[in-house]
Amino acid sequence: MSKEIDRIAEMIVSSKRVVVLTGAGISTESGIPDFRGPQGLWKRVDPKIGTIEFFREHPDEFWRFQLDRLKEMMKAQPNRAHYALAELEKMGKLSAIITQNVDSLHFKAGSKNVIEIHGNLRTAKCIECGKVISIEEALKIIEEGVFPPKCRTCGGLLKTGSVLFNEPIPEEALTRAYMESEMCDLMMAIGTSLQVYPAAYLPVIAKRKGAKFIIINMEPTPLDEIADIVVHGKAGDILTAVVEKVKEKLGVKGS
Ligand code: NAD
Repeated sequence: MSKEIDRIAEMIVSSKRVVVLTGAGISTESGIPDFRGPQGLWKRVDPKIGTIEFFREHPDEFWRFQLDRLKEMMKAQPNRAHYALAELEKMGKLSAIITQNVDSLHFKAGSKNVIEIHGNLRTAKCIECGKVISIEEALKIIEEGVFPPKCRTCGGLLKTGSVLFNEPIPEEALTRAYMESEMCDLMMAIGTSLQVYPAAYLPVIAKRKGAKFIIINMEPTPLDEIADIVVHGKAGDILTAVVEKVKEKLGVKGS
């Protein structure tokens, strides 16, 4: 393992533009379950609850499910993996994080250039008039007895700001994600099963443009065969060790 850590650190140091793609696995050490890992949500819950069709047909059941996840995410704190990436950015060795997560933990850890391709849970949006409100405001509407919550302006149904299955990815986020993937010379996929598109396509774009590609994940993924390095293990342990090595190579002192 220490050989791989050293190789990853060397690649980071010698790259001009490092981009990271993260998935639910980077947040499991913060107590938020992933979908497809061994303790994943889809082992307990039918994945159809995450589709836009389910939301439209059963908004009350959808919101009950989302409220549980919201509570979990609002109290969650970033873990060592999130902090390690924020530190790399501060050192000028990480250009962007493209995340599939909706938990805001990269921002909470201090990362600045974060592209949330699956939206976030900080907001809710009316599916009729398109008005966007804060999630706190949506929770207030629920507290006032309107369930599932409705828009104060037009009475339309409110939906959380996360992107559901079969919903389009927000265009601006997707354009930025494609651009970063084309421009990077090193991409690292961390804590993602690389099974959800278009996220799983981003490393393919990067590779085609000549970038190196590293995977850090607990389990094998369908893209392992195109990766230059694959490390299986916990993102928190691995990234902490990688950042220490990067600092050593750059001659940066302290934490
Ligand atoms: P996924 O559940 O499909 O895969 C997560 C991967 O991370 C698994 O392969 C698992 O083995 C690995 N993993 C688990 N813990 C790890 C750890 N500590 N270190 C390293 N690897 C670890 O998740 P995905 O690829 O992000 O799937 C995409 C969907 O999951 C997205 O739509 C995303 O919006 C959604 N999601 C987000 C959150 C969140 O915001 N935290 C939580 C659950 C699901």
